Amino acid sequence: MAPIAAGELLVVADEATRKLVTLQISMLAMQASHAESEARAVAIVNEKSSALDCVVVDVGLAGLDPWALLKHLRQDPETAMIPVMVILGRPPNESDMLKLIDAGVMDHLVKPLSTTLLCAKIKAVSERSRMQRELKNKLRFALEYSAHDALTGLYNRRYFERRLREESAHAKRHKRPFSLILADLDHFKLVNDTYGHEDGDRVLCHVAELLGGSLREDDIACRFGGEEFVILLRATPGPAARVVANRLRASVASQGIALGAKDELRHVTLSGGVAAADERNNYDVDNIVDRADKALYRAKRGGRNRVEME
Ligand code: GH3
Ligand code: MG
Ligand code: MG
Repeated sequence: MAPIAAGELLVVADEATRKLVTLQISMLAMQASHAESEARAVAIVNEKSSALDCVVVDVGLAGLDPWALLKHLRQDPETAMIPVMVILGRPPNESDMLKLIDAGVMDHLVKPLSTTLLCAKIKAVSERSRMQRELKNKLRFALEYSAHDALTGLYNRRYFERRLREESAHAKRHKRPFSLILADLDHFKLVNDTYGHEDGDRVLCHVAELLGGSLREDDIACRFGGEEFVILLRATPGPAARVVANRLRASVASQGIALGAKDELRHVTLSGGVAAADERNNYDVDNIVDRADKALYRAKRGGRNRVEME
């Protein structure tokens, strides 16, 4: 994971204040953007939201409605976490403080600005902001990692099961069918026995790449376990899923892979079973994997390198 770089500051203030802030933060090795209107500030925040450490807003800036700007920032989930510090023209009284708290302001400075205080506050807010962004990145990474199969990079079974439940709820609500393809490599044990486990792993990756690379963005290809894959085809009725399954099957059968010490070009095949959740079964997923598995079993019994439907 890339380390979190020192962030940037957005200063929404007049030229004189901006110059003062910019000079001070250059000592903190930070950079600043500058805006003098709500529209410009929002544009910069949207463009740089992932790199901004803090937004400093002079509430007395002519022509600016600072509260509208703060509301805008808080309403967008992408920008809501960016800390905001305001510059006030006078020390806040109790009702000013309540207004600041209500607007989600993290801290404030009072004019005339003390450069020592300015630096200290920006440093503290920015450091916290950076830690928060780092945590967010780690969380995103962990979520991504926990959803994927380590060998092939496809989604894993746990992720598949979650998406299956979600898709079922969606399908029921919108009366929209979806389908599953359960695919199992043919005679895969023979590949392992002939070329070793490492080449077996390479075959799994090769097939995963072919499966994952030829689907629509909406479809979800997962490694179900061992040499079995499952593909969830959103908004796809059974007959259309069978067409997709046959296309995948033909693609795997036709693309050879070099195996063994002599780099022999070998072709592997897969068999597929297709099942759908549709109005016939009330969009239920309780036994959809079993149904696809039974169809897969028939494909195996029927000679392999073929697709059967439930
Ligand atoms: P069939 O056509 O009936 O499916 O035959 P098969 O040989 O593919 O099926 P079988 O269930 O007999 O063997 C599956 C093999 O898949 C056995 C197992 O060692 C291998 N396998 C499972 N997971 C992995 C893996 O992660 N890497 C490798 N290299 N092999 C694996
Ligand atoms: Mg199997
Ligand atoms: Mg197999």
